[in-house]
Amino acid sequence: MISGKTCLVGLLGQPVNHSLSPVIQNAALKEMGLDWCYLAMPCVSEHLGQITKALREINCKGLNITIPHKQNALNVCKYVTPMAKSLGAVNTLVPNKEGGWSGMNTDVEGFLAPLKDKKLDGAKAIVLGSGGSARAVIAGLQTLNLNQVLIVGRKRNKLKEFILEFSKKSLQINNDPTYLKGLLQDSEELIEEIKEADLIVNTTPVGMSASRTSTIITSEIPIEKKIWQHLQPNSILYDLIYTPRPTAWLTLGAQKGCQQIDGLEMLIQQGAASLKLWSNNDQVPIDVMRAAAKAHLRA
Ligand code: NAP
Repeated sequence: MISGKTCLVGLLGQPVNHSLSPVIQNAALKEMGLDWCYLAMPCVSEHLGQITKALREINCKGLNITIPHKQNALNVCKYVTPMAKSLGAVNTLVPNKEGGWSGMNTDVEGFLAPLKDKKLDGAKAIVLGSGGSARAVIAGLQTLNLNQVLIVGRKRNKLKEFILEFSKKSLQINNDPTYLKGLLQDSEELIEEIKEADLIVNTTPVGMSASRTSTIITSEIPIEKKIWQHLQPNSILYDLIYTPRPTAWLTLGAQKGCQQIDGLEMLIQQGAASLKLWSNNDQVPIDVMRAAAKAHLRA
């Protein structure tokens, strides 16, 4: 029940109307008995500074930041955690005592959560795509004791810049020059890499659709369908996409006997990590958040 005492938390981005975060967060707030309400608020880039400032003035308890503001959000924060700074991306704003916002990034924690029980020591990983979410994915992979991280992109220059930037950053915790590599998606070498991969993460939007069908439509498979005939059953496929569930790529992986992880758990875990920061409470009801998300996606 919204009353005169209810406080605001929410999401800023553009667009935000398809976001699952209000469903997940409001379910958790209810369970925790917090008199807060989480709203998805559309915000264009030019207004990010004004809107975050105004929300801080009206005692907003916390914000999530999504596309296209994760990078610009660094500029509205008085303090930014080292992880968010080196990623160059903020997805969570927490009010600080000086009346401003502190910027954090919970995407890395969210990405890693479903991999906790996987044996990846000395493993080889492939990351498809080199955009915003690939940064959090690679930062997360670098905390695991992997043997190699291969980034697959479609544009030579962009890929080169991306690898160079990562190699320079303090996030590069493994100094072996063969550890972080880049490969174009039409390279012949990719076949051998796929055969040897223990973990393949799709960070491209290829396969994302509002439709719930999980039939294999060639245009919805990253790179091209035929390259995936080289998949080995011991590979784990991790798709950051969660609509549809499963994606066409994960359906193809299941047919090959691969383990599959979709993006829903990452979304829930990064949201849970944000809520822990806002509420200063480590006991957030992740099961309730997960159930609310699944029920919403089924509805
Ligand atoms: P982004 O910054 O736009 O990056 C997308 C990357 O995919 C870019 O490297 C882009 O390549 C590449 N790409 C796009 N279309 C492609 C195509 N047809 N073939 C090959 N590569 C293609 O997007 P993002 O923020 O990283 O998001 C990517 C996906 O992850 C989205 O589906 C998003 O919903 C999902 N995601 C999920 C979560 C979660 O919590 N589960 C969190 C974040 C993102 P170029 O650079 O060459 O254009």
